[in-house]
Amino acid sequence: MAGDTPRIGVLALQGDVREHVRILRLLGAAVCTVRRPAELTEVDGLVIPGGESSVIDKLSRAFGMREPLRRAIAEGLPVYGTCAGLILLADEVLDGLPGQQSFGGLDVAVRRNAFGSQLDSFESDLYVDAFGGPPVKAVFIRAPVVERVGAGVEILATLDDGRVVAVERGNVLGTSFHPEVSDETRFHERLLERVRARLN
Ligand code: GLN
Repeated sequence: MAGDTPRIGVLALQGDVREHVRILRLLGAAVCTVRRPAELTEVDGLVIPGGESSVIDKLSRAFGMREPLRRAIAEGLPVYGTCAGLILLADEVLDGLPGQQSFGGLDVAVRRNAFGSQLDSFESDLYVDAFGGPPVKAVFIRAPVVERVGAGVEILATLDDGRVVAVERGNVLGTSFHPEVSDETRFHERLLERVRARLN
């Protein structure tokens, strides 16, 4: 714990770590990268970035991070996962590679690469009631969608066709898209709010 300045870790096993570090610093957090269990114990909140969920899964096991992460999330560590990060937070992963595991924590089923290869990446304006204000410019890159939402999980955003792309329950927040690449700060701010509420 670090006084008034929340200390946020970005899981740095693989993926777009730098963009999250930049946004979190912009928002006034003390930011560090997390690769080892000891580093995890020093943070008040955690971002799991996009990248390749099967690789992050494998590396987390190789680095002895899987169980510490599962425990920290279960004990209420505020966590925000984007894209591959959302896949890793899902209790159920659809279209995972053989043997692929997630950390879990969020009672949802998430399908990897749900938009297929023709639509590898795209942008969409999303209205998020919880934020009000201007729409979120959401960038989707080989993105997953949430196909089942468990009891108590709040849907924060859907595409025009109703597919669920942002969810939250308690300390766990996940988006299919990458706000960090379009200078959208409100999801990271939400994580920081959760962290401050837990520290006070
Ligand atoms: N398709 C990737 C996966 O399965 C996620 C892509 C991303 O994080 N941008 O992990």
